[in-house]
Amino acid sequence: MAEKKAAIMDFKAIIKELNKISSDYNSGSYSAMELAENIMLASDHVANVSVKDEEAQQKFSAQSTKLVQELTLCQKMNDERFQDWFNTAKHSATVGFLLVTANPDADRSSDEELDRLLVDFFDGEGLTDVTAHYFAAARLGLADPMRAYNMIIEDFRKYPDILSKLYTGCQYEYDPDCSHDTINEVCPICGSQNAEPFYCVNQALVKDSRFAPAKLWMECKGCGNLYAYNFPIEQRDEINGHYTKKGGTLSPRHMLATYSEIFNNIRMYNDGRKYLEIGVGNGEMLACALEMGYEADAVEICKEDCENISGALGVGIKWCDFLDFDTSKRYDLIIMGDVLEHVSQPTKALEKAHKLLAENGILWLSTPNYNSAFTRMLQFSDPMWNQVNHFTYFSFEGLKPILDKVGFDVKRYDISRRYNGSMELILKKR
Ligand SMILES: [Zn+2]
Repeated sequence: MAEKKAAIMDFKAIIKELNKISSDYNSGSYSAMELAENIMLASDHVANVSVKDEEAQQKFSAQSTKLVQELTLCQKMNDERFQDWFNTAKHSATVGFLLVTANPDADRSSDEELDRLLVDFFDGEGLTDVTAHYFAAARLGLADPMRAYNMIIEDFRKYPDILSKLYTGCQYEYDPDCSHDTINEVCPICGSQNAEPFYCVNQALVKDSRFAPAKLWMECKGCGNLYAYNFPIEQRDEINGHYTKKGGTLSPRHMLATYSEIFNNIRMYNDGRKYLEIGVGNGEMLACALEMGYEADAVEICKEDCENISGALGVGIKWCDFLDFDTSKRYDLIIMGDVLEHVSQPTKALEKAHKLLAENGILWLSTPNYNSAFTRMLQFSDPMWNQVNHFTYFSFEGLKPILDKVGFDVKRYDISRRYNGSMELILKKR
């Protein structure tokens, strides 16, 4: 990792040298000796990072020597030769940068000054330049998120299959005309229009063509939570589904005993048996609810998961968007596990759950918390940032006032044992 970081830092020296040489040369105000010295220095650096192509390196080295000779002997040099040399140097640096950054375990920590230099440096239109520009832009995700987002989208508009050319077998291809992203200028949680770019994720690396190559997280100044500026929200049944395989058995993802602890904690506040689960995932929590003696109903937006799980568990699961779910029943317990971050109107979903609860009913809620201990520790290395199908990202501080307003008291807060960085809340209807 340190080596990768050092390799990227080397580009700072190279880019600075090349930029200086080019501007000195173009301004004509250079001292020939100084320029010769800089050309030698840059040549050494470039040769070190360039592709391992001996023939190309020898040619480049000969080009450099020739320029330096000209400068030493006659204090000036041939324009065309200089341009050839500069283009070769730039191309070698670009390919070298790509080799370092396109490596899946490349160091992605950002050095703002260097990263700004890099995006300006890779300004060409060819595939190699645009690809290097994209990797450089992605490094600005935190320092300049809106710019990073715009640049990545623009790069993929030029070459939609950058990644398939880099990684054999990678099928990612961005089709802006078929992209179903909606652009959200208004906070889907509180309706405020006052938000600032927070962090841009290089989502192309997830290699799922249903999603744009970048996702821009916005920080809402109204409620303090985060939401995706661009998101294929209209495709939510498709992007949120398929947690199960057709027919046959279901596979647990977590220790099922985790759920007995969750249910026993809930029963300290309400031991009624009428149960509704919203979004059944792979069916494991629903299966546990049955074992714990609940009379379970469920709603699921993905048709396939609905059929597979109701087939396996023998429970009728209603296939619909929760906001369209209609019943005269009132429940003692509603489960909304890892659902809130996927839905188009999270506050409406909470209001609906409140309405469907019986008096003193409990809503059990689990959702990622971007202020969790885990996220504080891992910061932007927390894989939760890269969950392509998450639309919103709450903090407890941002969520609590919304729960208050909807009519829930927070009875218990737990750090999730199921998902690192998620919070689990027991909420009681007021
Ligand atoms: Zn908001």
